[in-house]
Amino acid sequence: MPETSPPEVVPTAEHYDVVVIGGGPGGYATALYGASAGLNVAMIEKGKLGGTCLNVGCIPAKELLETAAAYVHVTEAGDYGITAGEASIDWSTSLARKDKIVGGLVSGLGSLLKGRKVTVLDGHGRLHAGKRVSVSGGSSGDVELTGDAVVLAPGSVPRTLPGFDVDGKVVMTSDEFLSIAELPKSAAIIGGGVIGCEFASLLTDLGTKVTVLEALPKILPGLDKDLTKVIEKSFKARGMEIRTGVTVEGHSPSGSGTTVHVGGEGLDVDVVVVSVGRRPNTDDLGLDGTAVTISDRGFIEVDELCRTGEPGVWAVGDAIATPALAHIGFIEGVIAIQGILGEDPAPVDYAKVPWAVYCRPEAAFTGLSEEAAKEAGYEVVTQKSRFNHNGRAMIVNQPEGMVKVIAEKGADGRAGTILGVHMVGPWVTEQLGQGYLAVNWEATVDDMAALIQPHPTLTEVLGEAMLSLTGRPLHG
Ligand code: FAD
Repeated sequence: MPETSPPEVVPTAEHYDVVVIGGGPGGYATALYGASAGLNVAMIEKGKLGGTCLNVGCIPAKELLETAAAYVHVTEAGDYGITAGEASIDWSTSLARKDKIVGGLVSGLGSLLKGRKVTVLDGHGRLHAGKRVSVSGGSSGDVELTGDAVVLAPGSVPRTLPGFDVDGKVVMTSDEFLSIAELPKSAAIIGGGVIGCEFASLLTDLGTKVTVLEALPKILPGLDKDLTKVIEKSFKARGMEIRTGVTVEGHSPSGSGTTVHVGGEGLDVDVVVVSVGRRPNTDDLGLDGTAVTISDRGFIEVDELCRTGEPGVWAVGDAIATPALAHIGFIEGVIAIQGILGEDPAPVDYAKVPWAVYCRPEAAFTGLSEEAAKEAGYEVVTQKSRFNHNGRAMIVNQPEGMVKVIAEKGADGRAGTILGVHMVGPWVTEQLGQGYLAVNWEATVDDMAALIQPHPTLTEVLGEAMLSLTGRPLHG
């Protein structure tokens, strides 16, 4: 038989080193990091660049929270001897500011991608056998791409509740709330998680009567119980009602608002914000003829390095069952690219990632709470150091809150390795960094107590907590 040479491969589709489906934090971090490493990357986005985070998540939520913070500063001007008149708010200006910041970041992301020569396609991406990706339904037309590797980053969408059809006027999710046309006089927030508490805090500060309805025994699960108490106390002192351990049964529209049925009672409100978490956006990803699997809860199944069951296909961000946070999407994108490059990335230790909650007072934590550490079988030593003894906290007029350090008890009975750092108080979302390093480098209390905190700063409270745990407090 004559020797036959293999058939020539005729390219039928545009080929890339990496094809990314989804342009939110998970997808765009994959694309940017891949391009930085010299890879030829295509990224497909069916909605807006930046995904949930930039358009209807982190950024608009924090901008509106800052509006609330500015309002509170004005109401406190008298404490500094400043006469500012009665504070009032033009909500449309605040919304315009929010939209401007979002627009600036989205267009900045577009420029960044362009600068790194990432090919961005507008349309719905679907994965097929052989790492073929079809794109359709958008301005890029019907296109087919192939990749040496494919990264799935389709993100998540808000969960809804039976009996609460979203109309965007009376019943809304975070998507609609972040563009709410006017501030309601009263609101029920269903769900006391991070997003629910941020919305509840900002509305309360801007004068809305807020009731938080939470099915669990406590708001903000994951945060140490002692710190949740600080937040609850502050919320209640500002007039918010928090009802935990309750089930909402439905609602009956009445006039321009509605009556929420909860625990056999009626709660009359102008708006209901359903904030009961998010679900992975994995319903229409193709996947025919591939070994990518989706769990019962809708998540793309991956190993500890974000690899799906299909060789050469990774998945990152909210669509996999890891903490639904933008910075987790970023690091998973980095890990996926390192894996694609054949490097040896370290898996993320998801029990030690940083969490930040931007309500007033802010909360930030990493590692185990005291309850979780004990449940995990640790003997612990803890220290709570308060902001009300801290000069800078007094100066910025925000003395409420504390830093709680949870350390493993050593054989000598002293505090040893730091297991968790949980903080509530002024700007703690900006202060968590040292705690994050301590927990992830498995630093001991002695390691941390030797470090110098600049004076006067809010981080001195963390330093005091570490010194106290050595048995020799300075100020605290
Ligand atoms: P997404 O951001 O959801 O992006 C996925 C993108 O993929 C979307 O743009 C979607 O249109 C696109 N897409 C989906 N399927 C396809 C397809 N088949 N073809 C083409 N495109 C597709 N996280 C924080 O870390 N800090 C915060 O302060 C914070 N605040 C938040 C506040 C709110 C109100 C909300 C809702 C979320 C917040 N988050 C926060 C969470 C954060 O927004 C998400 O974790 C993050 O956006 C997830 O990134 P992702 O890329 O996985 O998904």
